Amino acid sequence: MFQSALRKNVVAPLARGFSTATNGGKNNTPLIIAGALAVAAGSYFIYNSEAGVYAESKDESDAKPRPVAFTKSEFTNLTLSKVETYNHNTNQYTFKFDDPNAICGGPITHLLMVKATENGLIVDEKGNDVARPYTPISRPDLAGEVVLLVKKYDTGKISPHLASLKPGDKAGFKGTFPKFKYVPGALDHGICVAGGSGITPHYQLIDHALSLKDDKTKWTLFYSNVTEDDILLRKEWDALAKAHPDRLKVVYVLDKPPAGWTGPTGYISQQLLKDNSPAGSEAGEAVKVFVCGPPGQVAAIAGPKDGMKQGPVGGVLKELGFSEGQVFKF
Ligand SMILES: Cc1cc2nc3c(=O)[nH]c(=O)nc-3n(C[C@H](O)[C@H](O)[C@H](O)COP(=O)(O)OP(=O)(O)OC[C@H]3O[C@@H](n4cnc5c(N)ncnc54)[C@H](O)[C@@H]3O)c2cc1C
Repeated sequence: MFQSALRKNVVAPLARGFSTATNGGKNNTPLIIAGALAVAAGSYFIYNSEAGVYAESKDESDAKPRPVAFTKSEFTNLTLSKVETYNHNTNQYTFKFDDPNAICGGPITHLLMVKATENGLIVDEKGNDVARPYTPISRPDLAGEVVLLVKKYDTGKISPHLASLKPGDKAGFKGTFPKFKYVPGALDHGICVAGGSGITPHYQLIDHALSLKDDKTKWTLFYSNVTEDDILLRKEWDALAKAHPDRLKVVYVLDKPPAGWTGPTGYISQQLLKDNSPAGSEAGEAVKVFVCGPPGQVAAIAGPKDGMKQGPVGGVLKELGFSEGQVFKF
């Protein structure tokens, strides 16, 4: 089974330990291996969910095969098993894998490309299938399923299609595609700026980092929404902040606050960032700002992305003295 899966290039062995694995040279914590992706004959890239890194192993002796549910090269159809209404415009979708032992895999942080396969394919003006990136809110080593939290844009293509699906329907998945490579302990402070459904990459990152006992990185999340109802994963954020008061501070910002709201209002401003986090010029490379939100917000906070490229740092972060090495736009 292992060899045939290896030929298919989609296997993830589960190993008990791999003491020589590297985690980026910062921590030498003994590693607990959660999965592995075999990418070349005779070597196995072991995914360490605790450290959030891949490390190469030549030893398959105590590796138990774990399949990865999809590949980067072609779309795999997954069945929707559950849809939960999250709020007025957002649903939580659970897609199950054909193999209940399969995992999503992938490094922290990653995205999946999702496309329609049923109820009519969705194509662009050139006739190509339309696919959109989504960051799962389930952990990469969760067996048997993957969970997405998706805001519906009525005039969009893929998000209304997902909202039209019923349990038993399918969607196409491709991935995982790495985004920022998180090295535990490499940062003193991570500052996350999120808007709306742009929260999911931050959740994958911070949830993972806080789960690592030896990782001391502190996090500040600035999360803006229109109304209080729009705040996504609030229960999870509040629980994380309560469990890690010395490592996570969450600042919710509302455009249209309800009566009695005591938090900040309006857009995430230079002053708000300045009052709650270190300035770029004083911080050095061990402070990094992560940004994900609607394009207008990304441009105002960090300067626009240049297609798939990061683009120069602009906006509020530039004014605060943050340099290109200190900013990552998801
Ligand atoms: C790294 C990453 C991770 C993401 N993760 C998530 C996630 O976990 N959850 C989530 O909900 N979203 C996520 N997104 C956003 C997601 O990829 C889609 O952009 C979103 O779901 C909208 O896709 P859509 O096809 O429904 O809408 P689209 O067709 O892309 O349209 C979106 C909106 O833009 C408008 N629009 C489209 N084209 C134009 C145009 N030419 N001019 C003006 N307006 C236009 C539409 O009318 C609509 O209101 C992520 C994005 C990135 C980059």
